[in-house]
Amino acid sequence: AVAKRDDVELHLYDLADDARGARRLQLVSDLRLAVAAATLEVFYQPKLDPRTGRVTGAEALARWQHPAEGFVPPDEFIPLAEHAGLIRALTSSVLRTALNACAGWRADGHDLTIAVNLSPRMLVDEHLPEQIEAALFEAGLPPEVLVLEITESAVMSDVQIARRVLETLRLMGVSLSLDDYGTGHSSLSYLATLPVNEIKLDKSFTLGLPYEPAALAIVRSTIALGHELGLTVVAEGVEEDGARALLADWECDVVQGYYYSRPLPASGFLAWLDAHADAVAAISR
Ligand code: C2E
Ligand code: MG
Ligand code: MG
Ligand code: MG
Repeated sequence: AVAKRDDVELHLYDLADDARGARRLQLVSDLRLAVAAATLEVFYQPKLDPRTGRVTGAEALARWQHPAEGFVPPDEFIPLAEHAGLIRALTSSVLRTALNACAGWRADGHDLTIAVNLSPRMLVDEHLPEQIEAALFEAGLPPEVLVLEITESAVMSDVQIARRVLETLRLMGVSLSLDDYGTGHSSLSYLATLPVNEIKLDKSFTLGLPYEPAALAIVRSTIALGHELGLTVVAEGVEEDGARALLADWECDVVQGYYYSRPLPASGFLAWLDAHADAVAAISR
């Protein structure tokens, strides 16, 4: 009876696997179309100074509204794009859209930087720096306004080329941020030798503020460590004022999170910026 039940379960697993595989294939083919037709959207989430509330920049986050499935999260479609060879086209499209949006905000008098996420695979492409240079030139922006967010695992996978690419980008004047810092294969020696100028504390730590003792210790000491190394420290996942206040006390340079705003479509972001600027001005009057 046991063997029989196992058979049945195995069979069910097979079916489930097939169904997952079929959905995955369908998603990949739909994603290919979406990238080609440029129907992926870019949302923007503000990055702010936790003391003054001044907005320093925004992070660009890709969004995919699937015609049948609805919203598919980037944690699902970015890996698909990587495996299907679509990540270069996707990144290039997000980068160009984000740079153009940033150029618009700056023309409107908002002195903001723009952060774009780079997939691990992008860092082993020696042509990446020239592509980024071209995109900046087309948007009419200086390299100083661009922040590239990279993950530690990315850097680990092909250290030689990645390091060269990162060094070229830094020499160009582009900022490099170590995203999701503290997760993955964190290595302090990498932090000391990689040409990054910013670390972005993973939200899993920030979300533990202001009560969880381990989160308190990790966040406070990481801010201090980052500053000792001369790095800008950003905390993502700020959802409450209690977390914001602690981060401000500990002199975290930049914060980002639902407390201020969720990622917004371009038009919504501009409206948020104006309303927020008015609110900040009213408080400081
Ligand atoms: P990430 O770069 O670490 O981005 C931060 C994620 O945290 C975003 O999720 C954002 O919406 C979410 N977040 C922001 N504030 C809060 C908060 O206060 N609380 C909570 N719980 N979450 C918050 P999202 O947009 O779903 O993106 C997930 C990941 O997908 C990103 O993580 C990034 O690794 C990747 N991703 C998104 N867009 C792109 C892209 O254009 N290219 C690449 N390569 N990766 C992307
Ligand atoms: Mg990021
Ligand atoms: Mg992150
Ligand atoms: Mg992340």
